[in-house]
Amino acid sequence: MIQSTIQIKSATPTIRQTECFIGGHWLPARSGKTFETINPATEEMIARVAEGDVADVDAAVKAAREAFDSGPWPRMNARDRGRLILKLCDLIESEIDELAAIETLDNGKPLSDSRTIDIPLAIEALRYYGGWADKIHGQTIPVSGNYFTYTRREPVGVVGQIIPWNFPILMVAWKWGPALAAGCTIVMKPAEQTPLTCLRLARLAQKAGIPDGVINIVPGFGPTAGAAIVKHPGIDKVAFTGSGETAQVIMRQSADSLKRLTFELGGKSPNIVFADADLDAATRGAHVGIHLNQGQCCCAGSRLFVQDSIHDAFVEKIVSMSKARRVGNPFDAQTEQGPQIDKVQFDKIMSFIDSGRAQGATCATGGKRVGNRGFFIEPTIFTNVQDEMTIAREEIFGPVLSVLRFGDTEELVQRANATPFGLAAAVWTRDIARAHDVARRIRAGTVWINCYDVFDAAAPFGGFKSSGFGRELGERGLDPYLETKTVTVSLDLPRE
Ligand code: ADP
Repeated sequence: MIQSTIQIKSATPTIRQTECFIGGHWLPARSGKTFETINPATEEMIARVAEGDVADVDAAVKAAREAFDSGPWPRMNARDRGRLILKLCDLIESEIDELAAIETLDNGKPLSDSRTIDIPLAIEALRYYGGWADKIHGQTIPVSGNYFTYTRREPVGVVGQIIPWNFPILMVAWKWGPALAAGCTIVMKPAEQTPLTCLRLARLAQKAGIPDGVINIVPGFGPTAGAAIVKHPGIDKVAFTGSGETAQVIMRQSADSLKRLTFELGGKSPNIVFADADLDAATRGAHVGIHLNQGQCCCAGSRLFVQDSIHDAFVEKIVSMSKARRVGNPFDAQTEQGPQIDKVQFDKIMSFIDSGRAQGATCATGGKRVGNRGFFIEPTIFTNVQDEMTIAREEIFGPVLSVLRFGDTEELVQRANATPFGLAAAVWTRDIARAHDVARRIRAGTVWINCYDVFDAAAPFGGFKSSGFGRELGERGLDPYLETKTVTVSLDLPRE
């Protein structure tokens, strides 16, 4: 059900943090510049935020460097570090309603999603890594000769963290959690579309007692503040989530200083429904898989492969579920889908929809703007999609599903893998052998069987192929924040 005119009566949380957070101080940008952050449901300005650039990043790196090289953070008892991370989680929990309102105001996602999905998952990720702080240890190694050899796992140093706008709080948590547990210090740049909750979390981190200089935030734009982080010689590692094009720029620009890199990039994930699947469950999985977060998920199940014999009946089910999706004011408790993040994304998605029609796919539902204010788009499903069409190949990052028909498993696996991406996939079938066989053969970092978008702080997430490298979450998520040092001791006794 789509409201044609959307009345937005948003909650108005107080926005308190809009400046750079450097060395424990709130500071305007050195240039004095600010930029607007916009409410995507109304297209109105929410606040003006400090526009950080090279000089602000430089100050932030100095603070982070000092906190790492001579401050208490990497040196304190690991258990105490863990305790401070857990304290931060308690503070986030105590402000969850206000944080959810700010997240929804800045990003446009339904308030119920912010309140019951994003922030609980963020708290879970931080708590999980709070628990790791005192469990990071090396090994003893039986080397040849009269030596005792052991390894130490040491923090990688000052990390630059550049995050996107689709899950603002959650991305902060995924990035801070392992970095803080490892004993690193941080210079973070939130996305220019959604800086507000990141800044609020920095305030809470300070309140929790995380020492000044450990977490520094420089809001601003990618080619300026972001590039300054990437190029800065005082930063040891960059963790980035965003588009593949930006990742390529970052890789080139960080080459001179040989920074460690981890990338979590885009996807065109196959969601595969075999004829023997529980079709009601698969319908819900296909629906959530594409439409969650207005389709703005790197792991969106945007290529829905449906087996021949059930294709038409299945299409009918997902089309009717899409038509019933409630698009509207994200602060309304009934709303399932809010606006896209901004005009740039809105225009991009609409042009993908145009290309789908122009290349001969059938728009079975949706395809239009909703209302005339805010960046709302109808949940959209294309059928009769061919593998070579643009909407089957490129990441749309919006509520647009491409349905593809398949015959047998061999053909399916080959087509599902015929993409440069490899972030996620799902398989719906009651045949347990087939489920595991397909899961093994799909080249992707996550495969869901009879479910979609199931995340857990303990389960690693990340991409094969052009979807990135390195993993976030789980024990593997710590690896990029740690160096391994080998220490070898001669056991030869001194001659008497
Ligand atoms: P999206 O298309 O999802 O906005 P981007 O890759 O453009 O993805 O943005 C993700 C993050 O990367 C944002 O915080 C953005 O400001 C930042 N960014 C964009 N360009 C650069 C760049 N050249 N160097 C560093 N960071 C950048």
